[in-house]
Amino acid sequence: MLETNLILYLIVGFLGAVLGSFLLHEYDKYGKVTTGLKLRSTCDHCGAQLKVKNLIPIFSFLMQRGRSTCCNKSLSYKYLFSEIGLASFFMVCFYFNNLTTIGLLFPALLLIALIDEKFKEIPLVLNIYLILWISLNSNVSENLISAVLIGLFLLSLYWGYLFLKKTEGLGLGDVILLVSISLYYGFPEIFYLITISSCLLLLKIIVLQKYKDQHAFGSWIVLTFGVFILFQESYVSAN
Ligand SMILES: [Zn+2]
Repeated sequence: MLETNLILYLIVGFLGAVLGSFLLHEYDKYGKVTTGLKLRSTCDHCGAQLKVKNLIPIFSFLMQRGRSTCCNKSLSYKYLFSEIGLASFFMVCFYFNNLTTIGLLFPALLLIALIDEKFKEIPLVLNIYLILWISLNSNVSENLISAVLIGLFLLSLYWGYLFLKKTEGLGLGDVILLVSISLYYGFPEIFYLITISSCLLLLKIIVLQKYKDQHAFGSWIVLTFGVFILFQESYVSAN
């Protein structure tokens, strides 16, 4: 029994490490122009194509003692951290029986937050991923009306702002994000969520005194959503 458990944990950890490696790669290349689909990664220093043995999460880094095999330059520790980070996160989720809920949701939320903070946009593919996760983990038809109402309200805000100020007040990515979250929560939770995330964003603007800059809203939405889910999961497991 112990052996099967250990093997299961190792598999789960390995999958987490692969996902960590993939997400970091997606984040690093985001916003950069790439020609065609590259299946293989290249070296950060000399651009040489990496071999399969250089691509094994965690192990390659340790075996190569943190240096590249092609040009013998030191590799960024971000690879090791993201791989070990998601490997241990996946194993903890597996231990608490939360791999399909929290384990498959939080890495996507983190990536949305990081990309939104950096590029002020939410990639459509992540929004679609979130909608898929929500339709698998909740009764979507139950909150359909709330989602339509929230969508109409946000779209009128979006167009109103665009009409009056000739610029986007909130992004369409944020609208999609909030509509999908209202499919998950419905009223009144979605109201609390919008209020809390707006307050957090306002607080950030006031603290940093950056009143004229463009600020990411999506990152605050996913942060609040993540905290809601955590509370819900711990409440469910406590009862
Ligand atoms: Zn190299």
